[in-house]
Amino acid sequence: MPKQSPLLEAQKIEKNFIIKENEILHVLKNINITIYPNEIVAFIGPSGCGKSTLIRILTGLIPATKGLIFYYQKPWEGLLPKTSFVFQTFALFPWMTVEENIEAVLKAEHDSVKEMKEKTKTAISLVGLKGFEEAYPKEISGGMKQRVGIARALVTNPEILFMDEPFSELDSFTAEVLREEVLSIWSKKETNLKSILLASHDLHEVTLMADRIFVMGTHPGEILAIIENPLPKPRDDHSEEFINFKEHLHDTYGKLKPASFKNPTQEKTIGPLLPATIDQIIGLLDFLRKHKGSADIFKIGAEKHEHFDKLILILQAAELLNFVEISHRTVSLTEKGKEFLKKDGKEIFKKQLMTIPLFIKVIDLLKQAPHHSLHRNDLIRFLTNTLPFQDVNTQYLILIRWGHFGNLFDYHHTARKISLKP
Ligand code: ADP
Ligand code: MG
Repeated sequence: MPKQSPLLEAQKIEKNFIIKENEILHVLKNINITIYPNEIVAFIGPSGCGKSTLIRILTGLIPATKGLIFYYQKPWEGLLPKTSFVFQTFALFPWMTVEENIEAVLKAEHDSVKEMKEKTKTAISLVGLKGFEEAYPKEISGGMKQRVGIARALVTNPEILFMDEPFSELDSFTAEVLREEVLSIWSKKETNLKSILLASHDLHEVTLMADRIFVMGTHPGEILAIIENPLPKPRDDHSEEFINFKEHLHDTYGKLKPASFKNPTQEKTIGPLLPATIDQIIGLLDFLRKHKGSADIFKIGAEKHEHFDKLILILQAAELLNFVEISHRTVSLTEKGKEFLKKDGKEIFKKQLMTIPLFIKVIDLLKQAPHHSLHRNDLIRFLTNTLPFQDVNTQYLILIRWGHFGNLFDYHHTARKISLKP
């Protein structure tokens, strides 16, 4: 890529959120980035690492706690001009038609009605929404909704397009079609679009779309590496280069982030449970057994057709239960994992649950409670206080399901009570 003068720069960006009276959450630390015209850059990292926060700071939607933003090499504060945003959740007005949703952003620009209609028409045809102008959001599929989201972003003719996990709510086929369309719009240069900044957690997506990839770590979010993607566009995802690059990225990601695989039991603090079902965990262990007890993470994903992001959670869950060990890229069954697969699975599962700090604490609470039983609301309150940044209902569900499978808890549906099994 010929280096031109930068379009957008961030220097030493930090972001803290004040979450309770005296508690500060350090979300971003020392973020330095430079974005050039005519490139697609991606921010990749685990959920919660601060991708959305960073994107919001770069667009000027929210201020940074510290640091500077430069736009065309001049210090900049507030919303960036000539910039649009595509959200993960589409964010359409349900009471407006497709056309009205797109026009809505132009109304702020004081165009004449004629100009507005023309621009809207162009945007509608760019994203293949012709014929759907009069439809309401509830009448169209997720893929079509996101087309509206993209049209709405393009209708103002932006130079920079920010996309925050824009395809992650879509089925994989629709997502792939829309990725190709965004790439085609960007490469045809029929618009003023210069650069795209994409938040993603999908290695396939960034291999397909990005010219440069900023790999982010978590707690606090920081840039761990910048990886250039040299593959010429358009990219063929079946080609050897494509697969090799994705593997290289996967490799680097894994190497950079050993902490994400760290077993929370080794720390004294109470960590969250990982959203994996018992079936998924057993599926993983079974797969490893069939492969003589160990396999490459990348192969597991490919052969089990598991999305990388989901696979990581299943691996972490199995690691938390001490059923597998992960070293760099190799996942191996532990003795406990083998025992669990043999027989008496539930007994082993129970033993392993009793090594997980969150379970230890909940068992403790139950032991102290009258009749060794607690109402759902009490547990929800406990989880909210203990894991303020987790989705409490998800944590609760995993707790109940794992605990039930391991014969640790009884759950009374009508009374919504959890009790310790004798
Ligand atoms: P990502 O997009 O990578 O999943 P986010 O930027 O959404 O990450 O969030 C990063 C961290 O900042 C998370 O721990 C999240 O809970 C926290 N966070 C985000 N927005 C706020 C906010 N307005 N107030 C407090 N905490 C926030
Ligand atoms: Mg996000």
